[in-house]
Amino acid sequence: MFLGHYSVAFAARTERNKIPLWVLFVAVQLLDLLWAPFVFLGLEKVRIVLRITATSPLDLYYMPCTHSLIGALIWSALAAFVYKLMRGAKASSSAALIVALAVFSHWILDLIVHRPDLAIYDDTLKVGFGLLNYKGAEFAMEIALLVIGANPSSDPDHVLGSAAFVESYCRNHDALCRDCVCVGETKANPLLMENGDVIEPTRSS
Ligand SMILES: [Zn+2]
Repeated sequence: MFLGHYSVAFAARTERNKIPLWVLFVAVQLLDLLWAPFVFLGLEKVRIVLRITATSPLDLYYMPCTHSLIGALIWSALAAFVYKLMRGAKASSSAALIVALAVFSHWILDLIVHRPDLAIYDDTLKVGFGLLNYKGAEFAMEIALLVIGANPSSDPDHVLGSAAFVESYCRNHDALCRDCVCVGETKANPLLMENGDVIEPTRSS
């Protein structure tokens, strides 16, 4: 699983929570980003075993810090804390929670695709549903997740996003902006106000 993780980042990003997309990209891959140096430092271990799964020869036989359930929960909480620290007043508690959930989503998606190499805690009670053993299914899931996550029409906030666009347009043009939140308006057909005059959108019948 690689691309699929990013679908969570696309889906979690809205105009309302204002979390930068790069933060969500880091969040959804944080466990893997930590895994590489942890392996390098010898804190976690991996070896090559040919045909251990249909799609990857990596035997991830020891990952207690980054990919155990308890480890993932701790990293998720830490990520929310660091996000709050970095963004200060700009970060709402719900945005910090979304960052934490984005980090934890990595473990949930790994649980679906990995063979049983994800420990519940430390190196014990390994779980994993093993979708990596089914080449076509794993690939289809990656693509489906990416399409769903990146599809703007699946996110109602994209309508509010267009309202934010109108607001900033009006601000940039020294214009008043009233009733900017127009449910049903789209970015291509917004209700604009310029210099106090309403520019009626051309409505297609
Ligand atoms: Zn992973």
